[in-house]
Amino acid sequence: MKALEERILKDGKVLPGHVLKVGNFLNHQIDTPFMMEMGKEIARIFEGDKPTKILTIEASGIALGMAAAVAMDLPLVFAKKKKSINVEDDLYSTIVHSYTHNIDYRVVVSKENLLAGERILIVDDFLANGCAIRGLMDLVAQAGGKVVGCTTAIEKGFQGGGDQLRAEGYKVESLAIVDEMTDHSLVFRK
Ligand code: 5GP
Repeated sequence: MKALEERILKDGKVLPGHVLKVGNFLNHQIDTPFMMEMGKEIARIFEGDKPTKILTIEASGIALGMAAAVAMDLPLVFAKKKKSINVEDDLYSTIVHSYTHNIDYRVVVSKENLLAGERILIVDDFLANGCAIRGLMDLVAQAGGKVVGCTTAIEKGFQGGGDQLRAEGYKVESLAIVDEMTDHSLVFRK
């Protein structure tokens, strides 16, 4: 999405550890009209896959998940991060490694909100190594649903998580893919 690439070039900042900061429009302050445009683009890409629900992860995935859900007229569910290690019968639960915080955490979804047979589109703000998306896929598998696609606003292609998922046969479409990133330059995938 050209407009997103331009926005990243204008407002993005590269932090140590290959972290791209876009907190003034994507995941801290939110440029709401622009977010809704990204949601429409996701709808255009995935409408043929006939998702019945969108699944994302709190907190940074919720805004884009909501924008996509509105554009596709679908319900949105977000997996919650949980401190307690207690296993609860009414929750699906999995462990995700956080790229930005370098810790493992548990994410859960109520069994009431993820059902067998549902066609799930996974949405998040960033795709790096793919741990967050794989955690969400695990929750869908536990519920007996089907992942029909995965999408993020920004994929850091040089970290390989997206291409690995594509190689496994998943439809993964990110709105912008950064293939090279230094303090002074970003190269987007054509
Ligand atoms: P992955 O699990 O694919 O390695 O990383 C994706 C998750 O880590 C996303 O949920 C996102 O919140 C966070 N993340 C990964 N890389 C970045 C980054 O460069 N910038 C920001 N703001 N978040 C990132």
